[in-house]
Amino acid sequence: MINMTSTFAVAIVGTGRGRGQIGMAGCPGRATTWMMPNNTERELERDVETLARWGTQALVTLLDDVELARLRLHNLPALLTAARISWYRAPLVPGPLYGLRTWRVVSHDGRERLFAPQRGTPWTLDRGWEEATCDEDHTAPAAGCRCGIHAWHPREASARRILRSRFDLPGIVQADGAVEVHEDGFRAQRARPYAFVRLPGRNPYLIERLAAAYGAEILDLRRAEELLAVCRERRLGLGEPVVEELLGAETIAERRRARARQRRDDALRVLAALLALAVACALALALS
Ligand SMILES: [Zn+2]
Repeated sequence: MINMTSTFAVAIVGTGRGRGQIGMAGCPGRATTWMMPNNTERELERDVETLARWGTQALVTLLDDVELARLRLHNLPALLTAARISWYRAPLVPGPLYGLRTWRVVSHDGRERLFAPQRGTPWTLDRGWEEATCDEDHTAPAAGCRCGIHAWHPREASARRILRSRFDLPGIVQADGAVEVHEDGFRAQRARPYAFVRLPGRNPYLIERLAAAYGAEILDLRRAEELLAVCRERRLGLGEPVVEELLGAETIAERRRARARQRRDDALRVLAALLALAVACALALALS
């Protein structure tokens, strides 16, 4: 809820049975109509202080990830933690998220089934949601882990990558539940196939059987641009500006720097190994 008046106030709308009160307020940090981006942080801090003074124990936000990003509320979780206010999220319209990925097709008991190419997990038949699990003792997806159902944001590079795969079936996945968004894609709590891409030269009947078995659509496409056009027309997937707002430009820049460092370190390691090999060969030659 966005309150467009110039003040931030908590309206008491109900009392608990034994103790406690329920209040409603506009979105913290968004109380003024003249809001400039650099004012948002100060206003957000001020509003969280107001909530703490009122004695708020728990805050329920009705905004979804994209709305939180658009309203520049990246710091809300940290400010609430500092003010010892628990944060619960109940987005009013938690629309599903879409991404690109591939599946491995394996014949199993006379029926074709989809498997995750990397981990080899089978995907549930009959329009069911595939729930992610993790061997670690937490629910998937967890931060810092690799668990969750993976998909790429629809971009030129990801579209080309999935269509290039010679053995796997490319398509669009519909994801729901908790989602961890990354720069290139996301890891989701649950997902199901939304559409399979039927490229020329692929077995059309196999894809028809799979589409019927998994309740997915068939997209007859040839090129990456056509797949991206479908995503654009149907508003499937997170665009680059939304991802940047969700993650923050600084986080994205830091991850890119870390990846570049990693590549450089890997290259240096290979070079060092080659040099060691060359020295060993030279020594062997000298001693022979
Ligand atoms: Zn995990």
